[in-house]
Amino acid sequence: MSPVDPTAPYDDNNIFAKILRGELPCTKVYEDEWAFAFEDIAPVAPIHVLVVPKGKYVSWDDFSVNAPAEEIAGFVRAVGKIAREKDLVEVGYRLINNIGPNGGQLVPHLHVHLLGGRVMGSMLT
Ligand code: C5P
Repeated sequence: MSPVDPTAPYDDNNIFAKILRGELPCTKVYEDEWAFAFEDIAPVAPIHVLVVPKGKYVSWDDFSVNAPAEEIAGFVRAVGKIAREKDLVEVGYRLINNIGPNGGQLVPHLHVHLLGGRVMGSMLT
């Protein structure tokens, strides 16, 4: 996969759009009105969940500028709810959102990585 251009229009054929439409398989973790979550196919932690908004947003930048406040709130709450359902609040966990080429974003549908189940190392590299 090539790096995402965060300024490009939304591509309806991206992998996560296909997962959302049920055209590609995934291991579903959570779903509500605003968000859908599934296990990452290449986990880097015992818990590695990808949380995506149901709306069509390329990146966090697109989402934060263009999504209605209700949708932003619904998505953010869903991420927190998944962490609570996984019993991660007390032990802690990490959220990552990659944006564009320098951020390492490979799939052009906004997704938050929820990582847990182990102690995370420094991320300041
Ligand atoms: O943030 P970034 O765009 O780099 O992350 C993409 C993530 O999507 C990767 O962690 C990759 O393993 C995951 N992926 C997936 N299922 C696919 C394709 C990619 O879980 N079918």
